[in-house]
Amino acid sequence: MSKFWEKEFTCPFCGTKFKKKMVFFDSIKIKARDIDLKPVFEDVNPMFYEVVTCPNCYFSAFDKDFETITIKGEETERKLKKLLEEAKKKVELKNVENHVEAIKRYALSGMVYSVLNQRKKVAISYLKIAWLFRELGKSEEEKRYLERALKEFESHYKYDYYEESDEPMILFYLGVLNQILGNRKEAARWYELLLRKYDGKSLYAKVGRERWQELRRS
Ligand SMILES: [Zn+2]
Repeated sequence: MSKFWEKEFTCPFCGTKFKKKMVFFDSIKIKARDIDLKPVFEDVNPMFYEVVTCPNCYFSAFDKDFETITIKGEETERKLKKLLEEAKKKVELKNVENHVEAIKRYALSGMVYSVLNQRKKVAISYLKIAWLFRELGKSEEEKRYLERALKEFESHYKYDYYEESDEPMILFYLGVLNQILGNRKEAARWYELLLRKYDGKSLYAKVGRERWQELRRS
């Protein structure tokens, strides 16, 4: 059985229609998870397929919201157009699926979400880049992107509106990214807040409790 299928997308920014290779949900197999819940995939790596990039203008977003994004305001539109044109000159995209290409695409989605003020998705784009560098064994680059993801999660938590259902995930990543980066006190503070608000109510709190206990033991 094929693990892939093709989906047609219409770019919300320039209107170009194009096809993209997608992974069947059933083909994704997770054999383990790292400390920050990064899945260790067996066989197919869905991170190679998550970001949709328009081949014409480079507008990039996660497959789940690519077509539903609306670009509001002339100023945003101008800024986005300028950044995408610059990216197009600098970055050459190849029609293959591997770590290097996936990193380029998440960098583009991070840029787009940043212009659109969707900080949670900027943070997730950076986190995925860090994970791809981890798979490549490039720890310096991984650390740099974990730091960038942490900064975005922090600003998101402090300044943005978020759904209450997202809060346990945000608090978990504020804890675990600080833990990985060696900021023990900060990590403990976020885990304690996560447990105070969501203990027994969220899977993130359950994992957060384990991490918090590991942190106290180490
Ligand atoms: Zn486009």
